Amino acid sequence: MKSLQDLPGVGPATAEKLVASGYKSLESIAVATPGELSAATGLSERAAQKIIIAARKALDIGFKTADIIYEQRLKVSRITTGSRNLDKLLGGGVETQTITEVFGEFGSGKTQLAHQLAVNVQLPVEAGGLNGKALYIDCEGTFRPERIVAMANAVGLDTKETLKNIIFARAYNSDHQMLIAEQAKEIIEEEGIKLVIVDSVTGHFRAEYPGRENLAERQQKLNRHLHTLARLADVFNIAVFITNQVMARPDTFFGDPTTAVGGHVLFHVPGARIYLRKSKGNRRIARLVDSPYLPEAEAMFIITEEGIRDPEES
Ligand code: ADP
Ligand code: MG
Repeated sequence: MKSLQDLPGVGPATAEKLVASGYKSLESIAVATPGELSAATGLSERAAQKIIIAARKALDIGFKTADIIYEQRLKVSRITTGSRNLDKLLGGGVETQTITEVFGEFGSGKTQLAHQLAVNVQLPVEAGGLNGKALYIDCEGTFRPERIVAMANAVGLDTKETLKNIIFARAYNSDHQMLIAEQAKEIIEEEGIKLVIVDSVTGHFRAEYPGRENLAERQQKLNRHLHTLARLADVFNIAVFITNQVMARPDTFFGDPTTAVGGHVLFHVPGARIYLRKSKGNRRIARLVDSPYLPEAEAMFIITEEGIRDPEES
């Protein structure tokens, strides 16, 4: 196992600076940008770039042939959402090896979907699950075990077992949230976690870095957090599901809904983005936005006492 000090050009003082700024592993450095690393540590951008390149080299991140990538893609598996419509929109369900971001206004169903996935990931593979556990990072205090019980019952899972298989962490601020994600590696491996949920990924960042003047810093920290999550998805072949509360734009009622105020957050990180909006009653419309390989389309689902379902079933 290589450590920071083994990198060429990184003496003890620089290593200390890196660690103090939250760059504790080669992975965290390898996924950083020179600007980010320089801003966080006070190193020059040139020095930062050298260190990033060295970290990538040490981790053997570099050129691969497409067959290797293809082989890795073949290992992608999917978690059912409970709605066939929504699964179809996503190419079969929520994928591993990537981040799935669901964004939409208050009450659009983001948290219900997060609960449903925390249950469904535990299903056997033939039933649309991954036979794994969930790590639920709750940033808003909206996790409700009662909903898990209702949803587990509805799919025929033992409720006590289902609750035990959800590892819960309440994140009280953005630093805490980032720390939990950075430390998740160990429990992902130990516990057999197949899904990491962050609900909501943006709330703390928005509250702590309000206004335009803090936008750059906020985005930089958020990007670092997203990269941590993306790396978890990739390295452990797990699904990462994040929510992002945004406001609908009243002035673009008939326009492009994805220009919601606050927008989606996955600018620089690959993944699926789903925009949720309310329809009549318990109906919700999901729209897949700029997927790397699926067509832009919409699907309708409903939220019931039993969880996420298709409208036809009601
Ligand atoms: P968001 O996280 O996007 O703000 P939620 O996921 O909390 O929204 O969704 C809230 C919606 O879920 C509410 O409109 C409510 O109708 C529905 N909901 C919550 N609990 C239940 C339940 N037990 N039975 C049916 N619908 C529910
Ligand atoms: Mg919510």
